[in-house]
Amino acid sequence: MALGLAALSVLAFVAIRETLDRQIDASLIAVASIQAASLTDAPTGEMQFHEWELTPDEAAQVRDLNRFAQVWSEDGLSLLRTRYITRDLPLDSAALRGAARGELIWVEDTFQGIPVRSLFYPLGRLGPLHGQHVLQVAAPLETRNRMLRNAALLMTALLLVIAGGTVIGSWWLADRAVRPVQDIIVQAEEIGGQTLGRRISAHADSREYERLVQVLNTMLARIDAAFDAQRRFTADASHELRSPLTAMRGELELARRRPREPAEYERVIDSALEEVVRLSRVAEDLLTLARSDAGVLQARLVATDLVACARRVVERLRIAADARQVRVIVTGPADAVADVDEDLVNQLLWNLIGNAIRFAPAGGTVDVALVRDGGEVIVRVTDTGPGIPENALDRIFDRFYRVDEARTASAGVQGTGLGLAIVHVIAGLHRAKLSAGNRPAGGAEFIVRFPSS
Ligand code: ADP
Repeated sequence: MALGLAALSVLAFVAIRETLDRQIDASLIAVASIQAASLTDAPTGEMQFHEWELTPDEAAQVRDLNRFAQVWSEDGLSLLRTRYITRDLPLDSAALRGAARGELIWVEDTFQGIPVRSLFYPLGRLGPLHGQHVLQVAAPLETRNRMLRNAALLMTALLLVIAGGTVIGSWWLADRAVRPVQDIIVQAEEIGGQTLGRRISAHADSREYERLVQVLNTMLARIDAAFDAQRRFTADASHELRSPLTAMRGELELARRRPREPAEYERVIDSALEEVVRLSRVAEDLLTLARSDAGVLQARLVATDLVACARRVVERLRIAADARQVRVIVTGPADAVADVDEDLVNQLLWNLIGNAIRFAPAGGTVDVALVRDGGEVIVRVTDTGPGIPENALDRIFDRFYRVDEARTASAGVQGTGLGLAIVHVIAGLHRAKLSAGNRPAGGAEFIVRFPSS
């Protein structure tokens, strides 16, 4: 912008100078022709300028417009001068020669310390009598130079003010535009691992940055939730591992205090073994979840007959079911085939059917019904147990979540609270839809919809 303005100023300056020069030249020609005419008008035939005395006031007013005139002979002899000058005008001999030949010649020079522009005007064109005479008319250039100086000063000042204003203005605008982002950055930087609950409040309701702040805050909320879940998971896991270890240690220390009967030792060993089994199950479940979190638990999908899978799992759970006098029924079509990782799906079925057997009352029934429905194979596991309380339904798949310790304990084997979390992870790996609910007739109902092959 500054460069453009500078170029414009230079152009304007040149245009003003041209105009002023043209006016001066035009006035010089006009004055020269008038003076030349007055020369010939003299009745005596003598040369004389057509001029009269101005009052001092008038003279002061036309001072800048004054034109000096002088007639030269061909060889540079002064023949006549206007009355306003007391000395000869600066004579340029080349110009004199040119004018004597009949040309109009322009020359710039100084006269009595001031710059002047002269026109050498051939008088030969007025008649043979003046063939060797040249009229020089000069105009002082002071006014023109002053005007040009003032114009240059004005333009430079304007240029500086506009360019300076533009720099300051754009600085201010850019700063205003960037400041909110800076504010948001400062607040975002202050949020760390210990202060994840904080949110960005700067410019949260400005039209331009509302969305950015919203997106950042949503992201913070997600990170906060993930951190929180991780913290709770670690705390729950340590608790889950420490309690049985403490119990086992207590029992073993007690047994070692004095010699005991073999039957007593056997009981302690059995109890310790039970805890060890439970601990290794918890450790295995934790490992599965940790691998899933780390993204290393992957499903190797192979077309698998899910009815056959369900039957094999039920077979392995037969002893537990018989012990609780629970009937397990598997039904399904021959084409209930889906692309699944068989090991993972076996674990999913084991957890669901195992839970159903644990919660079904003695003499109850567990139904494992598989159905092909369009592009899906639906696995539905229902039991005739107490079902899941409505308020627990949306937390049932959370890690370490147990509906109610007393109820779980009364169902026999103590759970880890990780079984359904693992079911959830495995379903996710297969892009299967998972839901938990209750049958109208009572008893829990778990439904997994696998995309079929
Ligand atoms: P756990 O190993 O403690 O059973 P799960 O994750 O498998 O942990 O189950 C979480 C909770 O869901 C359990 O505490 C239990 O109360 C409830 N639950 C699971 N399956 C059933 C079911 N078939 N009937 C009633 N409640 C169930």
